[in-house]
Amino acid sequence: QAKETGRNLYQFYSPDMNERAFERLFLDSDLHRALARNELELYFQPQIDLAQGHVVGAEALLRWNHATKGQISPVVFIPLAEESDLILDIGGWVIEEACRHARQWHDQGYTDLRVAVNLSARQFRSDLPDIVARVLHETGLPAHLLELELTESLLMERPELARTILNKLRYLGNHLSIDDFGTGYSSLSYLKHFPIDRLKIDRSFVKDLNVDPDDAIIVEAIIALAHGLRLNVVAEGVETSDQFEFMRQRGCDEIQGYVVARPMPADDFLRYLQKSKRQTES
Ligand code: C2E
Ligand code: MG
Ligand code: MG
Ligand code: MG
Repeated sequence: QAKETGRNLYQFYSPDMNERAFERLFLDSDLHRALARNELELYFQPQIDLAQGHVVGAEALLRWNHATKGQISPVVFIPLAEESDLILDIGGWVIEEACRHARQWHDQGYTDLRVAVNLSARQFRSDLPDIVARVLHETGLPAHLLELELTESLLMERPELARTILNKLRYLGNHLSIDDFGTGYSSLSYLKHFPIDRLKIDRSFVKDLNVDPDDAIIVEAIIALAHGLRLNVVAEGVETSDQFEFMRQRGCDEIQGYVVARPMPADDFLRYLQKSKRQTES
């Protein structure tokens, strides 16, 4: 049925077509032009080391500045891009752009500042290490300053391929972290088999920390698990000072969230760095 419709193009515009699918169709064709039209932009959200209070890194988060619809969330357009190889072009651009910015911070004297990039399952192919190596070479960013964020499901889909790729990335010197930890299709054994550096505690556990005792238990368990395995642990989506204090007291290594700063354009992020540097110096 779907194939029939595909061949019969005029049916796309039949009146019974629901509005959302219609909207999607347009977004999808716009998205194919977004890169060429310079409509994609990386925002950066600081990650703070709780022991020192320093900015130690930033997560690169993609934004689409659509010409007529305004800014569109990655939650909306990444799944669209993932339906085709478009995600490979977009994902490659994200790696390049993130490394280019991190190299600039490095040149401005922030020599230890990491940048973290989110990867899609479709990017997780055997050519990924070559792409990363080329970008590092071209931008001159030291490999240990690039962190790649993976999800549990991405690793579990094809564990053997994943292991080969992760070993190569690790060999290059990249940092590897598990995003949204605890929400995926979890098999903790992968923590033993994959060369992972960090766990990112998902925001869903952080959100109700001070009202739901179960979430507090889960967060404590993740911190203990990470430290037991000699992994670094980051809490994401920390919004309140209570949550901040909870993480500090429980020995979570780093936090990221609105309580510190929202994701921001590159220029603002550089100003943010300069401001926090002056604060720690005075
Ligand atoms: P994620 O990787 O888990 O990123 C964290 C999300 O939480 C970001 O949403 C960030 O803006 C948001 N966030 C951070 N702190 C707080 C907080 O304190 N409170 C709340 N409510 N939210 C907070 P964003 O930027 O909308 O990105 C959503 C998701 O889209 C990301 O989740 C990631 O899975 C995906 N994404 C973003 N950029 C890229 C990209 O370049 N490539 C790929 N493949 N996926 C991306
Ligand atoms: Mg992420
Ligand atoms: Mg996350
Ligand atoms: Mg998330």
